[in-house]
Parts: sequence; structure tokens; C-alpha cells
Amino acid sequence: MKPFAQIVVNVPSVAGVFDYAIPEDLAGGVGIGHLVIVPFGKQTVQGVILRFIDQPSVADTKEILEIVDPDPVLTSTQIALAEWMAGATLSPLAAIINLMLPSGLGQQADVRYTLRTMDDGPLTDDGLRSTANGLSQINARIIKLLNERGPLCGRQIDTHFRNVDWRKSAEWLVRRGVLAKKSVLPAPRVRSKYIRVAQLAVPLEEAEAALPDLGQTEATLKRRSAALRYLMRELDEANVSWVYAESGCNLSDLQILAERGLIVLRESEIWRDPLERVESRGIERGSIPELTPEQAQSWEKIQKAFSQSMHLPFLLHGVTGSGKTELYIRAAEEAVRRGKQAIILVPEIALTPQTVRRFLARFPGQVGLIHSKLSEGERYDTWRRARTGLLEVVIGPRSALFAPLPDIGLIAVDECHDGSYYQSEPPFYHAVTAAQTYARLAGAVCILGSATPTIVQRWDADAGESVRLDLPRRIASAQETKPHQHLDLPPVSIIDMREELKEGNRGIFSRDLLQALDDTLNRGEQVILFLNRRGTATYVFCRNCGYVLKCPQCDTPLTFHIEEKERLVCHHCGYARQKPSKCPECGSTQIREYGLGSERVETEVGNLFPQARVLRWDWETTRQKDAHEIILSHFASHRADVLVGTQMLAKGLDLPLVTLVGVVLADVGLNLPDPFSSERVFQVLTQVAGRAGRSTRGGQVILQTFQPEHLTIQAASGHDYAGFYEQELAGRRVLGYPPFGRLVRLEYRHREYDRAEAEAQKTAGRLKSRIEAEGRLQTTLVGPVPCFFSKLRGEYRWQIVLRGPNPVDILQGQRFDGWRVEVDPTSLL
Ligand code: ADP
Ligand code: ZN
Ligand code: ZN
Repeated sequence: MKPFAQIVVNVPSVAGVFDYAIPEDLAGGVGIGHLVIVPFGKQTVQGVILRFIDQPSVADTKEILEIVDPDPVLTSTQIALAEWMAGATLSPLAAIINLMLPSGLGQQADVRYTLRTMDDGPLTDDGLRSTANGLSQINARIIKLLNERGPLCGRQIDTHFRNVDWRKSAEWLVRRGVLAKKSVLPAPRVRSKYIRVAQLAVPLEEAEAALPDLGQTEATLKRRSAALRYLMRELDEANVSWVYAESGCNLSDLQILAERGLIVLRESEIWRDPLERVESRGIERGSIPELTPEQAQSWEKIQKAFSQSMHLPFLLHGVTGSGKTELYIRAAEEAVRRGKQAIILVPEIALTPQTVRRFLARFPGQVGLIHSKLSEGERYDTWRRARTGLLEVVIGPRSALFAPLPDIGLIAVDECHDGSYYQSEPPFYHAVTAAQTYARLAGAVCILGSATPTIVQRWDADAGESVRLDLPRRIASAQETKPHQHLDLPPVSIIDMREELKEGNRGIFSRDLLQALDDTLNRGEQVILFLNRRGTATYVFCRNCGYVLKCPQCDTPLTFHIEEKERLVCHHCGYARQKPSKCPECGSTQIREYGLGSERVETEVGNLFPQARVLRWDWETTRQKDAHEIILSHFASHRADVLVGTQMLAKGLDLPLVTLVGVVLADVGLNLPDPFSSERVFQVLTQVAGRAGRSTRGGQVILQTFQPEHLTIQAASGHDYAGFYEQELAGRRVLGYPPFGRLVRLEYRHREYDRAEAEAQKTAGRLKSRIEAEGRLQTTLVGPVPCFFSKLRGEYRWQIVLRGPNPVDILQGQRFDGWRVEVDPTSLL
């Protein structure tokens, strides 16, 4: 055993790793990834052991004080990932490690108190009296309690001492040597997220035949047959409390039915699936379809990778509905079969209920969901269960990558192009690149799947850094009867809105879109109307002088909200004000809102089609709890005809009744001073178009634009990924943007414009001389310039962009206090 340990301490203000000595009495218990308590300056802090070393880097090392938990909180693969991420993203290691520990782990830790004399058994009454002799009443009570109950944690003692500060007394007893104390992580609480469910396990005839002899007495027979009848009607799994309520039976009745093999009883995770009641019940649940020939070809390669130790990541490039999810499921099954675990990343659980549901159906009781509704305690419990290997599949957004699974066999990233995989606050990181590295370190199979991979992801495949698997055709969705029927992607028509204006149509809908809306609604089918970006372009300006109302804090145009009593709102910081009656600049009363937001579209549809039921799904309508679920389930169960929404619509929804998708204004987001803006518009348009025609009813997409000749719009309308990719690559090659060069973005924010600028100039100067001194002629420095969104929450933003073969090297080992440093940023706005 090496005598010293390298420890990353959990102190936000210090970024470093420190060496500590291992005292003899702890030597048997410490290991890599253990959470320990160490002295740090005048405090004692938590830290994690990274590795053991022979020689410390400083002469007088302090000793580790305690081990908090007998099991490590990080696996050694996680430590390797954390060190890689810290280096690659220029972030402090402690900040990355923090991502991997459940928030509040520090607070979870508790102190366990033991009565020292307990080693020789509990004290007799006499012994107790003499120990407590001369002590305060509280001290005596603590001793008595511990003598009766054995060692107790602080939280347990709390319940015996309401409104009494017993801790001070306990500390005093510790110093006197009467009590011993030790930090611990408490065991997970009850698995409150689980409910017991029952489901019929035999064909109906068999159940029917069993009905007459389910009990000896009339009463039991009645209860049990009522329960079985209920489950025969239900087919799908049902919460046992519903079965009790419906049939008057109890748990032991159900247990007897289960023993006889008529039903299964199991635990199921509570997960409110907005589409649950809508989909055809029973039939598809958990059933395993035979792979299409295209899927089978891809699957062969993926499966082979499981038996190889080294493999490249797969890029599963398949149009919406081509069967990608089915392959993630197969791969997860393969991992589990090999005794390993799988991580499935999705953009956001509330927005991808169908994917989640399919995993829950195929891995009953084995799935851990990580979603934003989990409380801190639930997160901690999920983390504990993952650590012990109790969870075989973990599904969640980017943070799910850090579930401490002991032996990962698969990491799959669904919709791998999605912007939510990038964490745009420090520590900045991209979960997709982290997933690739993690898979490599863990020897796991990695699958990135999307209909619209990013240019860089696709380039990596072309450059041989990943293996591309193509699924070019979509499969008719599960509701269809014929197996392996292929559907065409819906036709997209481009409508030139300039022509509409010329023809005197000043409305927000072209004549074609109006006609299509009318036809679709008359057929009793559903429509999605899409607007890129929330509240887009509803800015308010003075027709007289052109003055645009802006947020005083962020300098971005305020957007107009009719619903909220004509309020103007800033979507960056939440600033809101009443719409003024006069122009603050010239005093004219000609204040008008311009452009359109989803509210405007909603109102307009309501005016034109009063009989249509319209739902709006955007930033504004989803601020309330459960709003996503409510809106989605309303629409999916056809309690609404038209869904007006923003980006959220672009995730993987499968809504077979939707036969018309109208993109109200496709140009939004194009022509911004950002190398990634075309890519984002192409992705969102292609994804939204994929929402139409998911069933044999067919479908169509209408795309309204003022720039019909724009190449991005052209490519999106033709479902032409390859064309877009070629054109985008050519442009980036000329400008040296990724994948032909890498970017680092440095941003500085300050309340005073001059201070922000001065700091930006100073740092840019320093960087320029360094670039010259090192002779890195291929690296260009852009800026310093104010950011496109030049003010945010009252602070001015300035940026510097480095572009070159490896700009990270130039920054390595340097300090940029107060700067936000983003390696491989996903936007330069
Ligand atoms: P993607 O993830 O590419 O959008 P999915 O895996 O969700 O595609 O598949 C689209 C639809 O086709 C789903 O309804 C799914 O149940 C169905 N499906 C997938 N694979 C098959 C298959 N091999 N046979 C029959 N149906 C399938
Ligand atoms: Zn004015
Ligand atoms: Zn603002």
C-alpha cells in the first residue's frame, strides 16, 4: 500500500489536487474514488481520492481524517473521464467531479455517534448513572438514548430532541471521550418512486377457465374473481390500488393469483407518461419486433462490437421513424445480457416520453430515470442504486452520463445533434464528446443516433473516427398492421411569402397553408404549426421614428405578450413592463408590435377557424409544473386539432394523426453572425418536417419563407441532408470553422461597458503576443468585439474567439480570472 493519496478537495475557490498522508488505522479502508474528510487550511472539507502515490509533492502533508462511506463515490473510469474532461474543457477538476456527485451529497452526509463504552455491551443502570453523574440533563439523555438504541445518526437523534440543540452537548461528550463520532452517508430511503402493479399473465380463455375455483369461501372467491376479471378487462398492467378499489380484493388475494401463474405482480416506476392512455394498449407493450433488413445490417455491426475490446463509436444516421430506438433497445439488452449496464441519453425526458416508455416496457423494474422532477433525495437514491449496480439501464438528459454504474456496456445518445447536450454554463462541456470518451475508457459500445447529425459528427464518421450506419427509410409506426411497411418522408412545399404580399395577402398564413389547414381540419386530422424560437420577432417599435423597445438590462428587443395584459417581456432575464402608450423617443402614439410569436399564431388560427381546438406549446405555456405532459396528452388524445409550438416540437414525437405541418416562418435564425446558425435551422426544420405523415394517412409539410432561394431552406425542403452537408462543409473549409479548425470562445461580462472593453482589450493583447511568441501562425484571434447579444442581465458581454488547429494548447496552464472560457462552443452569439 502506498502511503500517500492525491485528493481533489471540494472547495469551489481552489482548483487543485492536494496530497495527503494515509494514517495507519485508515489504510485498510481507503481506495480510489472514496469520499474522505481532510483538513484544509483551518477547515475540514470533503474530498475524493484520485490515486495513491509513493512521494508527496510537498514535505509536510496532513493526514486524511475520515472515510465517509465504505464504498467509493466515483469509479476509476469516472475519475479518468473527469481528468480528461478537465483537460479538454480547461475546467477545474473539482468542478467536473461536482457534476458526477449527486447535488447535496455533502448535505446527505451525516454523523454517527457511538457510546464508547458500548464496545463492551450496554451499560447497566448503575453504570449509566455513574457515567452521567454531574453531566447536564441533555448530556445524560444523549447517553441514555445511545445506550438503549446503539449507534445513531444525527438525523435520528434529531427526532428525539425536538427544539433542543443537542449537537453542542454531543460535541462536548466527543471531546471528553465519552462518545465517538464518524461521518457516514446514509442508506437510500424507501424507493418511493415505485408502485406495485399487477398484470394478466395468461390468455383470456385460460383466465376465464380459472375463474370458478379461486377460493374456498364465497367471499374470497368473489374478491379474487373480481380482481382477475378486472385485469382481464384491463390487459395492461394496473396499479394494485386500482385493483383493490375495483374489486375489493387485497394484496394476499393478488399474491395467490400470482402464485397460480394467472397474473404477475411487480414493481413499476412511477412515471407519468402523457401519451399512455392514447396508444393501443397491451399489444405492443414490451413486444419485440423483427428487425427490418436495414436495421439487421446495422445491428450485425453493433452486436459484433460487444465482443471486441476496442471499437469506434457508431453514428446511426437514420431519418425520423427509421427504427433507431429499436436498435438502442437491442444494444441495451445485449449489454444487460453480458452483465453490464447501459446509459441512454435523451434531450429531455418530458419531451421524449415515447422513447422512455419503450425502455420501461422492455426493461421492467430495471430502469432508473433521471429527470428534472426528481427531488434532491430522489436523485441521491437513484445515484445510490446505480452505484450498487441495481439499475441496469439509466435514462436521462446529459447529467445521466454521470450515473456511477460499475460496468458500463453501452452508451447511446438519442438525437445526438440536440443543443441540450451542451452545458452552456460553467463548467462548459459537451455530453456527446464526453460520452464518446467515457465509452472508450469503459470499453463500452457507443451509439450516437440522429436524423440530422451535426456537421462535425458526420465528418468524424467520414474521417474514420466513427462508423456510420444508415437507416434511410422510415417504418410505419407501431399502430399499423402490416409489418415492415415503409413510408415515404412527407413532401415539403416552399411558399414564397413575398409573392403573397404582392398578391395583397398581409396575413401570416399563405393561401396554400390556409387551404391545407381547412382540408386537414375537415378530414378530422391534426395540424402542427411551428415557429422557430419562442416569442420570435414580436418586437415592438415606433412607426414614426423606428425606435425599438429594448430590455434595459440586456439590450435585446422586448417581445410582446397579448395574454399577459399587453406586457413586454425580455426572454433573457425576465424583465417585464407594460406596453407604453407613447414612444419614449419621439412621443408619438404609433407604437406597434411587429413580427409574430406563437401567441399571435394561436389567436390567428382561432379567428380563422373558430371551430378548431388550438393548443399552444411554448416557453410561456410550459412554465407551470407538468405543463408538458398536459399539453402533449391533450393533443395526442385528439382533444385539440392544432398544436402551435416552438422548438419542443422538434424532438422525437410520433403522432400518427398529424398530417399537416406548417412552418410559419422558416427564415428565423438564418443569417446570424454565427457559423452554426444554418446548421441549427436545417436541423430544426428537418426534424419538424419529420412530424408529419407518421402513419399511412400520409402527410405534407408547408414551409413559408421570405428567402425561398436560401440553400438551407432548399436542402431542408428536400430532406436533403447530404446536399446540406456538402454545401456547409465547403463554406466552413473556406473560413476554417469546425471541423477544419477548432474554436475557443472567451467571454467577459461587466456592468460597465468600459470596464468590459478594457479587460477584453488587455486579454486579447496578451493572447496575441503569446500566439506570436509561440509562432502559431495558423491560429487567428477574432476580436475583441461585443457579443451579438451584447448585454445580458445588466452586464455587457465582450468576446474573443481563437480559431486554429489546436487553440486549447495556447490557453493551457494559463489563468483567465473572471472569464468564461468555452472550448468547442456551439454558438458564437
Ligand atoms: P426512430 O428512433 O428512428 O425515430 P423508432 O425506433 O421509434 O424510430 O421506430 C419508428 C416506429 O417503427 C416505431 O413505432 C417503432 O415501434 C416501429 N418499429 C421500429 N422497428 C421496427 C421493426 N423492426 N418492425 C416493426 N416496427 C418497428
Ligand atoms: Zn418614436
Ligand atoms: Zn433582459
